[in-house]
Amino acid sequence: MVCEERWMEILSACQDGEATAAEVAEVQAHLVGCARCQKSRETFQRIHQAFGELRLDADSAPLPAPRPSLASGLRTRRRWPVLTAGALAAATLVALVWVPLPRHGSGLADELEARHLTAFARAAPCEFSSSDPAAVRAWVASNLGYNVEVPTIPDATLLGARRCTVHGGVTASLLYRRGEEALSLFLPRAGTAIETEATRMSRVRSGCTVGRLGAAVCARPGLFAVAETQGTALAAVESF
Ligand SMILES: [Zn+2]
Repeated sequence: MVCEERWMEILSACQDGEATAAEVAEVQAHLVGCARCQKSRETFQRIHQAFGELRLDADSAPLPAPRPSLASGLRTRRRWPVLTAGALAAATLVALVWVPLPRHGSGLADELEARHLTAFARAAPCEFSSSDPAAVRAWVASNLGYNVEVPTIPDATLLGARRCTVHGGVTASLLYRRGEEALSLFLPRAGTAIETEATRMSRVRSGCTVGRLGAAVCARPGLFAVAETQGTALAAVESF
């Protein structure tokens, strides 16, 4: 429903500190009478809590400050949340059963998973939205200063790209949708610590692991893919 999509956008914006005072007041009034939106708010909060915990025990450099609030008229929110109601319900389920697990040196996989989930929890997951690989490639080159390959992944639609800070460095992330699944590719700049880590991880067993919230994280030299299922993450890394 259009109405619910609008509340999702505002709830996501609230978590990112980008909602206006009027929107906060409006959504609070709505939450009183809407159990569905209350659940969505809890999901956003849990994702952000998991994300905040990663910041606390990060051995990496601090994350960039949140983007300053924009006047709502200037905000470029999309009208079609990629996180569907079904996916959000699944995320709620994961969030409800999730308990912190002991760390086994998989901090990077958890960090990539958090980047993936927080991007797709937003109404506008991409900073630059385009299904044209050449346009996405050009955006990455001009905004991140290096070239990436933008692959065609079987059965997946390219949504666009965004910048992420991962492992203390700024990395390009490409976003796709494959059926109902959200898919993120992370393509670090050559010679960075995260690029080295991709090569190391790719040599361990299948090159895939599972993040603490259950997403599949697959590595190949020079790149990572994160998706709900390992099949999709593998389809992504194998398309290079
Ligand atoms: Zn509602």
